[in-house]
Amino acid sequence: MTTPETRAGAPVVYIIGAGPAGLIAAETLATAGCRVEIFERKPVPARKFLMAGRGGLNLTHSEDMDTFLTRYGSSRTMVENAVRAFTPADLRAWADGLGEETFVGSSGRVFPKSFKASPLLRAWQARLVSLGVTFHFAHHWQGWDATGAPVFETPNGTAALPAPAAMLLALGGASWPRLGADGDWVNMLRARGVDIAPFRPANCGFHVAWSEFFVRGFAGQPIKPLALQFADRRIESEAMITANGVEGGGIYALSSALRDAIDKDGHATLNLDVRPGLSVQELASRLSKPRGAKSLGTWLRTAGGLSSLAATLLREPAAGGEDIDTLAPAALAARIKSLPLQLHGVFPIDRAISSAGGIRAASLDGYRLRDIPHVYIAGEMMDWEAPTGGYLLQASFATGVAAARQILSELPASE
Ligand SMILES: Cc1cc2nc3c(=O)[nH]c(=O)nc-3n(C[C@H](O)[C@H](O)[C@H](O)COP(=O)(O)OP(=O)(O)OC[C@H]3O[C@@H](n4cnc5c(N)ncnc54)[C@H](O)[C@@H]3O)c2cc1C
Repeated sequence: MTTPETRAGAPVVYIIGAGPAGLIAAETLATAGCRVEIFERKPVPARKFLMAGRGGLNLTHSEDMDTFLTRYGSSRTMVENAVRAFTPADLRAWADGLGEETFVGSSGRVFPKSFKASPLLRAWQARLVSLGVTFHFAHHWQGWDATGAPVFETPNGTAALPAPAAMLLALGGASWPRLGADGDWVNMLRARGVDIAPFRPANCGFHVAWSEFFVRGFAGQPIKPLALQFADRRIESEAMITANGVEGGGIYALSSALRDAIDKDGHATLNLDVRPGLSVQELASRLSKPRGAKSLGTWLRTAGGLSSLAATLLREPAAGGEDIDTLAPAALAARIKSLPLQLHGVFPIDRAISSAGGIRAASLDGYRLRDIPHVYIAGEMMDWEAPTGGYLLQASFATGVAAARQILSELPASE
């Protein structure tokens, strides 16, 4: 096994940020014989990765590569080469090698059998230490001093360290800032000429002007079953009611298009089908039967098969439903199959699962910054976005590996 002692004279690479992109880059570089030092502002590594573990750690997705790559939309070119070179199968094999066998869930998503991130992270950290990687926690990178030395804020004060052969920034995006990645590097790199698209929320919730009555009754509950449609995209999924809006899987899947529409027009209309299992004709025929003395709400539940939440949602002004008592069965069925939910804002980035925006391709030669010598980048700080489904971690890992391989190919020969 390679140990730190055998590495005297090997090139030193600093990695800033101990998320998945930084850690996999460290593994790639250390395995190839580099001396790797990781600097992380938090007292522990990979807080966001651990948080992803709370949802079962959706590592990647099992669909074919061409479909997989379409998930990155217009940002596909930022990640395509990296994902083709470090594929979902490679990521699964890597997790397996750390004792965390994975499986494909019913939706095609890939999870570790343990549904947890912590055992994987523990085994990974132990592997990195055995490869000679050094961790410096509570080291908040501040930029460079006048001599080009990287500067860190540490518990013992500010320290400028000797410039390494190469430096990889894997600082993450700007969502959930309390987990460490808050985009505080943006102004510093912009000042050095780096072209950075502003961070925006991705996989995020949206504001809805619910009535107090509706929030009291249904906040925290899912709309289920549900099909959601925006523009020409329809998906069957769920949405969660919150005190001031909607979030959850189905909303995240449409969130980039909804966010862009709200950025442009100030609002967006999301169509909800709260009875996706029935056609509009079947539903109309059921609702046409004699109602007797039943209230409309009871009738919608018993004859229409709507949940109590869905039946109440029909009356919500934000879903355009004040006047449903006057609707004939055919019109009522049409409304149930296409409720126009008005979204009037995007939830803040600190509650989003991920962020769009980041360093643009124009500032990069592969993964190296054009304007700052010997500095490379990887992970969510690059300008790509993707829905949930394992695409975020896959791209973070794959770009980490790709950046490390580029560093290896461009490092000066060891002295
Ligand atoms: C609640 C939640 C659940 C998620 N679930 C999933 C999921 O199931 N599947 C999926 O694919 N994705 C998921 N994601 C997204 C995924 O976790 C991220 O896309 C991924 O962690 C990004 O990796 P990264 O290494 O680029 O950045 P990060 O993981 O954010 O790591 C960046 C690191 O850099 C450190 N850092 C930042 N600035 C500095 C500085 N100046 N000095 C020193 N250190 C610094 C940070 O502290 C952090 O440790 C989830 C995200 C959240 C918030």
